[in-house]
Amino acid sequence: MPELPEVENIAAGLREAIRGEYLERVEVRRPGIIQGPHRRRWRRFLAQVAGRRVARVTRRAKRLIIVTDNRLTLLFQLGMTGKFLLGTKPVEADEFAKHTHVVLHVGDRRLVRFIDARRFGRLWLLDGLDPDEPDEAMNAARMGPLGPEALAMRTDAFRRLLQTERSVKTLLLDQTRIAGLGNIYADEALFAAGIHPTRRCGAISDEVGQDLLRAIKSVLRRAIRAGGTTFSDYRSPYGDMGRFRRRLRVYGRQGEPCRRCGATIEKIVVAGRGTHFCPTCQPVGP
Ligand code: ZN
Repeated sequence: MPELPEVENIAAGLREAIRGEYLERVEVRRPGIIQGPHRRRWRRFLAQVAGRRVARVTRRAKRLIIVTDNRLTLLFQLGMTGKFLLGTKPVEADEFAKHTHVVLHVGDRRLVRFIDARRFGRLWLLDGLDPDEPDEAMNAARMGPLGPEALAMRTDAFRRLLQTERSVKTLLLDQTRIAGLGNIYADEALFAAGIHPTRRCGAISDEVGQDLLRAIKSVLRRAIRAGGTTFSDYRSPYGDMGRFRRRLRVYGRQGEPCRRCGATIEKIVVAGRGTHFCPTCQPVGP
């Protein structure tokens, strides 16, 4: 599943590729993908998008937001396997054709294709969305509410968040409390901060809580920097982990030695998700 660093890089790549360009038309090859208040009138909505310029490309949590100069929004949820391809070749010409659900025809004859093999991805059509304050329009469309961005979370807000009896891993995965931190980076941040994933939030000291917030931001920023696959490379679709995969300390390393202490990395299930940790570097604690 594309996580926040990948989505951040997709947004950056798309921004570079299409901001300021005209969207000649938006081709929907699988209408079932469309969500939001305009889903029954999607043809009319997209007719108003056609010929408009791309004003902004941004993201909120893992939602990718494209806003035109007449303030219409295409919001992509990437689901399990959603990716974008940029190219000029006709869609039928390659092996991704049957997984291509939406095509943005850009004025300079390039195609931005949304491909999604597992089909959990969605395209929301929204109007009146302010890209700097997108929550209002997303809530009005009844998209799930999102907590503050993990990368923008403030120390005092995070301290308040930790005042709960839930386990810390459960909290970190709750998008309504802190948005954008997925399973991989939650595990990596907990390792970096030396906190056991089942630790009760309320038992974490202020000091260790601050370490955790620093670790979250640091892990995400490093992953963003390492995740820069090249958007112009038609052969390698966006959405892979980039170079960060090799730098993972615990995620996916169960049974292997901890890179810090040599103990064997363990895997348990927390909040229904595979959870990886080092039993020595992340003691259960009181
Ligand atoms: Zn260790």
